[in-house]
Amino acid sequence: MVQDDPLGSTSITDESVIDRLLERNRLQGWSRRIAPDRRPRLRLAIVTCMDSRIDVFEAFGLQRGDAHVLRNAGGLVSDDTLRSLVLSQRLLGTTDVMLIHHTDCGVHGLDEAAFARDLERETGQRPTSDFGAFDDLDADVRRSIARVIDSPFVASKHAVRGFVYDVETGLVREVARES
Ligand code: ZN
Repeated sequence: MVQDDPLGSTSITDESVIDRLLERNRLQGWSRRIAPDRRPRLRLAIVTCMDSRIDVFEAFGLQRGDAHVLRNAGGLVSDDTLRSLVLSQRLLGTTDVMLIHHTDCGVHGLDEAAFARDLERETGQRPTSDFGAFDDLDADVRRSIARVIDSPFVASKHAVRGFVYDVETGLVREVARES
């Protein structure tokens, strides 16, 4: 007899996708508890893009509780990323920083001026935020490292390393390191 899969499959057109995730959480939650230490075991913070093809835990064999993972569009070292890194290091004991950009990124090559113009045309308001577009992947990784190094509030700078993750192979290539 074929039974319905209680989790079902999710798709981008499914309006109840969040409800399905809540059901998964209810079914999985009790088996996934870990020791309640808020400090990451590996004393590591990872900054990367929100891209759905990057699973940092899978890519590096990490376990829950091992590392802080800070994500945004592009994996940029924004003011808010620095805010989190400062707290990660000074309050929660991390020391090493991995900055990971990736191939085929949505903001790589984005025409930021045109994007802003389109938004303004549609909404009547000029966006004030910087969307973080970049043209040179490796140069942007180096710029991200420099932003971390230049922050007076980041405590540990002995291991700040920058990488590009290949979304096709799942492998990372080191671009530069400050260590
Ligand atoms: Zn991206």
